[in-house]
Amino acid sequence: MQLNKKQRAELKMKYDGHCAYCGCELGDKWHADHIEAVDRVLAWCPKRGVKSTGEMHKPHLDTIENLNPSCVPCNINKHSMSLESWRKSIEHYRDVQLLRDSTHARHLHRFGLIEIKPDPVVFFFEKRGASDQHLTR
Ligand SMILES: [Zn+2]
Repeated sequence: MQLNKKQRAELKMKYDGHCAYCGCELGDKWHADHIEAVDRVLAWCPKRGVKSTGEMHKPHLDTIENLNPSCVPCNINKHSMSLESWRKSIEHYRDVQLLRDSTHARHLHRFGLIEIKPDPVVFFFEKRGASDQHLTR
């Protein structure tokens, strides 16, 4: 949905100006993330490859209640995954991919300079409640 200025400002404050997922403080550039993806329609463009048309497969999910304020890296990484799929994906980076795919990470790990914690992946909004009672619908 196209948020007006007031709605966007209110959404940014849903978690007091923090990304709903990693908890970083949001600057001027942040995204309104669809918690449950609206699944954009993709189309082939000869010049640009597969691109989103902007249309949605699930337009009924395009509501302010289904939006979370997100930093750009979290929104891009989450993409159209459900929260549980994204959680598993982050665990997979930690449990499988990091030390397998990054020579630098393996080296830092060998020298005891990084520690990989087995903790569960908990999103910022799960640690604290939303202050979204004042969202303009
Ligand atoms: Zn984030």
